[in-house]
Amino acid sequence: MTKGLLWCVAFATLTLFAFAASAQTRPGVEKLYVINCGEGVAGDISRWSPGVNEGKSMEFVDNCYLIRHSQGWLLWDTGITDAVAAMPDGLTPADPKATHWRRPKTLISQLDQIGVKPAEIKFLAISHTHPDHVGNVELFPQAMLLVQKAEYEWPNPMGVGRFKPEHPVTKLEGDHDIFGDGSMTIISTPGHTPGHQSLLVKLPNTGALVLSGDAVHFKSNWDNRRAPSINSDKDKTLASMQRIADVLTKERAQLWINHDKEQRDSLRMSPTFYD
Ligand SMILES: [Zn+2]
Repeated sequence: MTKGLLWCVAFATLTLFAFAASAQTRPGVEKLYVINCGEGVAGDISRWSPGVNEGKSMEFVDNCYLIRHSQGWLLWDTGITDAVAAMPDGLTPADPKATHWRRPKTLISQLDQIGVKPAEIKFLAISHTHPDHVGNVELFPQAMLLVQKAEYEWPNPMGVGRFKPEHPVTKLEGDHDIFGDGSMTIISTPGHTPGHQSLLVKLPNTGALVLSGDAVHFKSNWDNRRAPSINSDKDKTLASMQRIADVLTKERAQLWINHDKEQRDSLRMSPTFYD
């Protein structure tokens, strides 16, 4: 081999190593799992769409989203408490118009299936403090909670599943770029509750997504901009829906509506993932 050719081979090898190293450590969001965090039947959907579909029931779902970032795991919402999985008839609501929840699978069993231990969850970001979203927060006592200050300090939530005072928490006041690289941003969307928030996630192949939380509950309410009567503030709800619409346009993002059964039926559920 000539000296020139040797140099050429050495250079090509080095380039290959550099490429492999950068592929392994490429910063940002790597993948997202959609986790079954509940299935239910709403007694009367006019509770969410005043004056429309009165007395009609509708199937609801409840999702959690496990997201792998190069700097660690983040769980968005924790769903209905895993204890409901052991209840043969599910959880009957006090108000028959509300949702009767069941839990076909626990959150823990689905994490286990993927091979993720609860102690590996670095951040626990919560859309809001209703029981179908914070039911399993204390399965992750070490995870840093990312919650709006207004939600954390809300004096009169439903009284269930509030955070333990010793749970590590970052109390947010507005939008928050979680890893400082723009790949996952909490968007402040108050209205359903005082400190409600949504999540913008940028996946390498799937593209940008907005995870709604309960800024909207199902697609027809989104299309018609309807605010549920149970919301804490109607004007803020409508302003937050507009805010999300603006983010969708700017980021060319899809909107994934947490409780919408028809949309979830179209998604790939964990252990399959989006990258
Ligand atoms: Zn909800």
